[in-house]
Amino acid sequence: MAPRNPCFSNLAAGYLFPEVAKRRREFAAKHPEAKIISLGIGNTTEPIPPSICEALSASAVELGTKKGYSGYGDEQGKLELRKAISIGWYGGLVRDDEVFVSDGAKCDLGRLALLFGPGVSVAVQDPAYPVYVDSSVMLGQAGGKEESSGAYRGLTYMACRPENGFFPDLGKLSKTDLIYFCSPNNPTGAVATRAQLQSLVDFARKNRSIILFDAAYAGYIRDQDLPRSIFEIDGAREVAIEINSFSKYIGFTGVRLGWSVVPAELAFDDGTSVRQDWNRVNTTIFNGASNIAQAGGLAMFTMTGKEEMRGLIGFYLENASLIRDALRSAGFETWGGDNAPYVWARVNGKTSWQSFEDILDRANIVTTPGSGFGSAGEGFLRFSAFGHREDILEACGRLKGM
Ligand code: PLP
Repeated sequence: MAPRNPCFSNLAAGYLFPEVAKRRREFAAKHPEAKIISLGIGNTTEPIPPSICEALSASAVELGTKKGYSGYGDEQGKLELRKAISIGWYGGLVRDDEVFVSDGAKCDLGRLALLFGPGVSVAVQDPAYPVYVDSSVMLGQAGGKEESSGAYRGLTYMACRPENGFFPDLGKLSKTDLIYFCSPNNPTGAVATRAQLQSLVDFARKNRSIILFDAAYAGYIRDQDLPRSIFEIDGAREVAIEINSFSKYIGFTGVRLGWSVVPAELAFDDGTSVRQDWNRVNTTIFNGASNIAQAGGLAMFTMTGKEEMRGLIGFYLENASLIRDALRSAGFETWGGDNAPYVWARVNGKTSWQSFEDILDRANIVTTPGSGFGSAGEGFLRFSAFGHREDILEACGRLKGM
């Protein structure tokens, strides 16, 4: 038999969501009468808006005609869509030949890690979206878990808690090759300010680090003063890659469409262009996003598409605000939910898992324990705003009555 990639034995079992699902099943088996509501997952629930759905259907129908059929497209994405992203999303801050359309942000994050190989040092926010850590382990950029702390060897964890405004203390951070940074943040819902991102970019320029900036929720930022892209920050073009997604803006979690931006100026330490290697990765192991999905993505940039996107994001943000108000009236201290679809709540005197059990028991609501996103998430729960309104209202009523 062929040997297993040794890095894979360093991966801890995917613990968080299977464990949440298991505990939910056990509870349902014991209490078949309970109407369980999930505020635990980050999956979208509302239909794809009409004009975008029409564009998807029209593109599928066209593929069934001689005239409209198309096979493989450009691996980097349709030029029309790259232009729409460059102008429609970034207002020209990035060029269309710096935009790479993909099958989603998660897939891009996995492929981007390939650019750097096993020898690089990596820093992640703690708590963090698990893909950054797991893809680093798969590539040998981090080793196995330490028994005592549960931390992966070789990774730098940047604690992000209410006490530091959910922004890492960069003064204590040593030189690192790669820095994963997510804003608006999953799971905390925190959004980095312009000044905070400027200090991150300055740190990266001084230490010759590359920032992998996950902006998958940037469309949720309503506050005009908060930056929606790392490229709004001076000097970012020399040190940052941005990843984004259509998933949470127009319900494309199942359709699959995202993009990355790799600026022309960004170079490895030997001066080679990062964009050139990223193009090589995309042309070698990715054959371009689905043409149907790209037609849908393009529709997001029409006047009607933009309005529909704003409406859908607004709906989820209203859910977030209802959840936050209910949690506050139940006595929880909360963060996030203003410019992000996640509310982060402190659970005084209990661990994350104890509080998960307590809320499941008393309100029949499934949440996500913060400790599952990293040790700095211990003592918190994540509430997701993705849900049907009637379920959110029912859950809020139960939370208030706790
Ligand atoms: N990045 C963050 C922070 C996410 O929370 C998610 C999905 O939940 C993704 C990326 C994945 O996005 P996509 O559906 O485009 O793969």
